[in-house]
Amino acid sequence: MDSLSVAYPIDLHTHSLCSDGTLSPADLIRRAAGRGVRVLSLSDHDTLAGVAEAVAAGAELGIRVIPASELNTESEWGDAHVLGYFIDPADVALEERLRWLRENRERRIELMVERLNQLGYGVSLERVLEIAQGGALGRPHLAEALLEKGYVRAYEEAFDTILAKDSPAYVARIGLTPREAVELVRMHGGVPSLAHPGTVVGLEALLPKLVAAGLAGIEAYCGDHSLEMTERCLALARTHGLVPTGGSDFHGRGEHGVDLGAIFVPPETIEMLESRRAHA
Ligand SMILES: [Zn+2]
Ligand SMILES: [Zn+2]
Repeated sequence: MDSLSVAYPIDLHTHSLCSDGTLSPADLIRRAAGRGVRVLSLSDHDTLAGVAEAVAAGAELGIRVIPASELNTESEWGDAHVLGYFIDPADVALEERLRWLRENRERRIELMVERLNQLGYGVSLERVLEIAQGGALGRPHLAEALLEKGYVRAYEEAFDTILAKDSPAYVARIGLTPREAVELVRMHGGVPSLAHPGTVVGLEALLPKLVAAGLAGIEAYCGDHSLEMTERCLALARTHGLVPTGGSDFHGRGEHGVDLGAIFVPPETIEMLESRRAHA
């Protein structure tokens, strides 16, 4: 029971206004402090812009902030997001690469809106941006815009028809594959972990490829997971020698129904992740 006696809330997956969350980094840290969190990772999508503010607020409130970013990927593997821990917010080359990702994502969606308009679908970029609320733009936002205009009867239908890969509205991705995301994190001295594996299509097949590229962790403790999914991820972690990580994926809108620090993450997780950094 030793680990329980020293247990305290740890949250290794959170978002601020700097990507698609609703709180500033400092407000996020204040909220975490109010909930007893002692170690928190700010993991905004494709950016490290909020880390310095979070670290400063954390220093005042006694919260250790681990810098991170959640990298979105584009591939046939579904929503495979890669969390990169311990990457350096002052790494200029990495920031260049992240900016490239952010700009390409926006440009791609702009192009798709243009094509949709040419095809007679009246969706506006302004509305798509509103739906995204400043977050990482993607096809889900286009699907929502199409749905609210009545062009499809269901959100998924948009993906299967108007936004499908063989549709004239489709613009090919310019982004990272899951493997490239893992490699990018490693290249910049970080420790990569696969976020919310439940959204990956073909998890068992993808995992060995990512492990070969340097994947060090897998998010086992996650609000989206059933008990079975957590057990499955813990088993996959054992099989592939990965560190089970976890967090709330808090965005501030309550969409996952989980508040900061509410997902149990074993304290030894931090040391295990750090050891993967040293051996990188
Ligand atoms: Zn994600
Ligand atoms: Zn996330």
